[in-house]
Amino acid sequence: MPRIVVLGAGFAGLWAALGAARKRDELGTRPSDLEILVVDRNAYHNIRVRNYEVDLSDAALPLAGLLDPVGVKHIVAGVEAIDPAKRQVTVATDAGRETLGYDRLVLALGSELPRPAISGLADHAYDVDTYDAARRLDDHLAALGRQPSSAARATVVVVGAGFTGIEVATEMPDKLARAGITDARRVILVDPNPVVGATFGANGRPVINEALTALGVETRLEVRVTSVDADRVTLSSGEIIPTKTLVWCAGLRASPLVATLPVERDALGRLMVDDFMRAKGLTGIFAAGDVAASLVDGEHTSVMSCQFARPMGRFAGHNVVADLYGEPMLPLRIDWYVTVLDLGRWGALYTTGWDREVHTSGAAAKVTKQTINHLRIYPPRNSDRAALLDAAAPTIQTPPPTRK
Ligand SMILES: Cc1cc2nc3c(=O)[nH]c(=O)nc-3n(C[C@H](O)[C@H](O)[C@H](O)COP(=O)(O)OP(=O)(O)OC[C@H]3O[C@@H](n4cnc5c(N)ncnc54)[C@H](O)[C@@H]3O)c2cc1C
Repeated sequence: MPRIVVLGAGFAGLWAALGAARKRDELGTRPSDLEILVVDRNAYHNIRVRNYEVDLSDAALPLAGLLDPVGVKHIVAGVEAIDPAKRQVTVATDAGRETLGYDRLVLALGSELPRPAISGLADHAYDVDTYDAARRLDDHLAALGRQPSSAARATVVVVGAGFTGIEVATEMPDKLARAGITDARRVILVDPNPVVGATFGANGRPVINEALTALGVETRLEVRVTSVDADRVTLSSGEIIPTKTLVWCAGLRASPLVATLPVERDALGRLMVDDFMRAKGLTGIFAAGDVAASLVDGEHTSVMSCQFARPMGRFAGHNVVADLYGEPMLPLRIDWYVTVLDLGRWGALYTTGWDREVHTSGAAAKVTKQTINHLRIYPPRNSDRAALLDAAAPTIQTPPPTRK
């Protein structure tokens, strides 16, 4: 029986698996005649974009409820190696190492937060890159909430004033309040750049700054972290900040497994894919999400985002089955780009276009953000086979609606 292996069950992998199941169903092929197998180190699909939020309920959805109804197999295993020449992947499960052969592979292992070699960072830093890491941060804050008051207990240093760092910093006052830390709260956003939100346009940055001011978030710009201890952070300016909580949010890189493949990669470590999500230079391998760079509108390259990962996944899933059966594949084309940045209790910032023009901000944009995070990017949660296959159609959603 032919086998399609999907590595990763995040936004790209989950939707690739569902897209493949949909195409298999459309061709009238039974699960007993074409195996689709998903491998992930977790038994859940993490709504990763929500990992900065105060309340993480429903941010990890069991894969069984999403994949069993459509006849997609799944195993919990760490992917250790990919051998494109032998069409094999090596995975590690609780029972030991295993080699899985494939006829077609969909690579969707996502991205990781790089950890520079800063003294104390590995031992003392928190992050929100994964659901486990986000839970660890919340547990830490809850434990601090039970300790006696001190400046270090009430201060959080967030490193990286990009998308994730801004969302973490602006949500942090409410996270601290939930942990019972109410007096002398300080949130400090640190970045080597001279501005917060460097990739936002000149229109968007004042909105972000307004939110930071309103929420009392301090900034330290044009400085780096030089060392981290259990109860303080030292900056390149010489400033020592008493804190028991540093949240590292600087940068994203494609899964390190991509670097083991003998092909060209971009500056973020991503594989180049063609319009059909086939990895350039590799046979029988499709790639989607943060591991792949796709020219989405013929001009702009995909940004590491769920906005692109989900459609890339759906098209990769459709095409991998089509390719296996000699059916026509569908090119991916996405002609819009937006960002919706959460700004905590202040609201949000919704930008449109590649120049990130401000569309809406404040409370109106926050409604859009909440709709995205809690509805739009979720798979159907009722384990209904028809609903899951419907949602996996290889089509492009319209931009998120908002009232102006
Ligand atoms: C806090 C935060 C906020 C964000 N906000 C936004 C936003 O507002 N809008 C937006 O569009 N994007 C946002 N993003 C980015 C978005 O989450 C990613 O671009 C998206 O998750 C990429 O999807 P993916 O499927 O490629 O990777 P992922 O969703 O990360 O999925 C990768 C999967 O592979 C698995 N995996 C990885 N390595 C291995 C291995 N070796 N073995 C087994 N399994 C493995 C992981 O467990 C995971 O399930 C945010 C990210 C973060 C962290």
